[in-house]
Amino acid sequence: EADASAPRATESGTPKGAAIDGIAAQLRAAVTSGLTRPRQYREQQLDGLERMLLQNVSLWEAALAADLGKSEVEAHLSEIAFTVGEAKHARRQLWRWMLPAPVPLPLALQPALGRTVAEPLGATLVIAPWNYPLQLALGPLVGAIAAGNAVLLKPSEVAPATSALLARLMPAYLDPRSVRVIEGGVPDTTALLEQRWDLIFYTGNSRVARIVAAAAAKHLTPTVLELGGKSPAYVHRSADIAVAADRIAWGKWLNAGQTCVAPDHIRVDREVADELVDELRRATAEQLGDARTSPDYSRIINGEHLARLQSMLEGGTVVTGGDADADQRYLAPTILTDVDADAPAMQEEIFGPILPVLPVDGVDGFIDAMRGRDKPLALYVFARDREVVRRVERETSSGALGVNVAVAHYGAKSLPFGGVGESGMGRYHGRFSFEAFSHRKAVLSKPAAIDTLRVIYPPFTELRAAI
Ligand code: NAD
Repeated sequence: EADASAPRATESGTPKGAAIDGIAAQLRAAVTSGLTRPRQYREQQLDGLERMLLQNVSLWEAALAADLGKSEVEAHLSEIAFTVGEAKHARRQLWRWMLPAPVPLPLALQPALGRTVAEPLGATLVIAPWNYPLQLALGPLVGAIAAGNAVLLKPSEVAPATSALLARLMPAYLDPRSVRVIEGGVPDTTALLEQRWDLIFYTGNSRVARIVAAAAAKHLTPTVLELGGKSPAYVHRSADIAVAADRIAWGKWLNAGQTCVAPDHIRVDREVADELVDELRRATAEQLGDARTSPDYSRIINGEHLARLQSMLEGGTVVTGGDADADQRYLAPTILTDVDADAPAMQEEIFGPILPVLPVDGVDGFIDAMRGRDKPLALYVFARDREVVRRVERETSSGALGVNVAVAHYGAKSLPFGGVGESGMGRYHGRFSFEAFSHRKAVLSKPAAIDTLRVIYPPFTELRAAI
């Protein structure tokens, strides 16, 4: 007999209601009590996060293989080692990031000292997606912890093995007074969003981002929204076509195309379109061979997404790939040509291993095609002609621009990562993560001894005469 007074059960069958009630307030109290303030505490938590990853490598690999069929190498490069790198960098740089930053002041305010100090925001909520279910959960956490916040992580229920492992291991390595994890789907996330947070960091799609932003607005909570969109690659006739094909193929087939910054589709100068398609087939065969048996090729997250992707194969000519195996959640790396603007693959972000190649007439044709579209998370231009690169940089807008390279900008801690317009707001990685989770307080301090402000006190007799 179910006990009606028991906490509400969620889709995954675990009672969450009791854990969710008042959790934002509890976490905020951990910050206001001063617990999370000391640099040493933050460093210890970051160290715990690193150890949680490094001491359980085979468990993480198994979870990522179960959720996405990720190879160990990919799991390591794009999730485990990547996140360890972020945490280590934050731990080592933290003293520097926490230093007050002096600023110059106008003569009229002097003598005085001006500085900015970074202070924690309080209780923060991180909502993670399924495609890099480890890195996109723990990466934001690094920023939250480094900046001295308490944080609640809600991993994606769509990647259940990684979500369960996070829930199991985090309490053993991170102080539960300031870092929590709650698994769950829409009902639990909805309940969490009703509470007052001091920052919500959401990674996912722009439809749910609107739900998050609306919930945040009720409490005037700031948000960082890391979204996606149709990130294009433009290949100009001056490009090294073989290198462009190698780099686009790698960025696209990585994680079977389920990467927010994967090239969504290619626009290529008409006169080199056939050559590019040939080179893409060559590069794909070289990198993955028979993708179905390649240990280096991921699987589609679930049957629903596979069906969505298969429906995108309509309205184009499959030049390579196209075959699927529902039992294996497998979809071959697929190149599509003869794709109309109104084809299914051009209506929404593909987020899978389907690569439409559309011809355009030069850089003008590409820039025209971008006009009036949503600003993508990334845009890639392949060209040796520097004027072409300059024009693309100046005349298009995107979260990031890759020149003769795709996806790799994601790996530079010194570059801010984030979208613009429909692809999101806010930025993180490296020091930008620390800033994203901090309030930069402006501090002006003036000695009492020499009261230069006296000149602007009323009565304004002298000032009146001066203006
Ligand atoms: P998802 O389905 O896992 O959803 C993301 C999160 O939103 C999950 O935690 C989920 O529980 C939550 N959620 C879903 N519905 C909700 C609702 N109604 N109310 C509240 N929360 C809800 O992942 P997704 O959205 O399919 O992720 C794919 C998208 O994310 C793509 O558009 C991709 O480009 C984008 N993405 C962006 C980045 C980035 O860093 N900018 C990274 C990865 C993915």
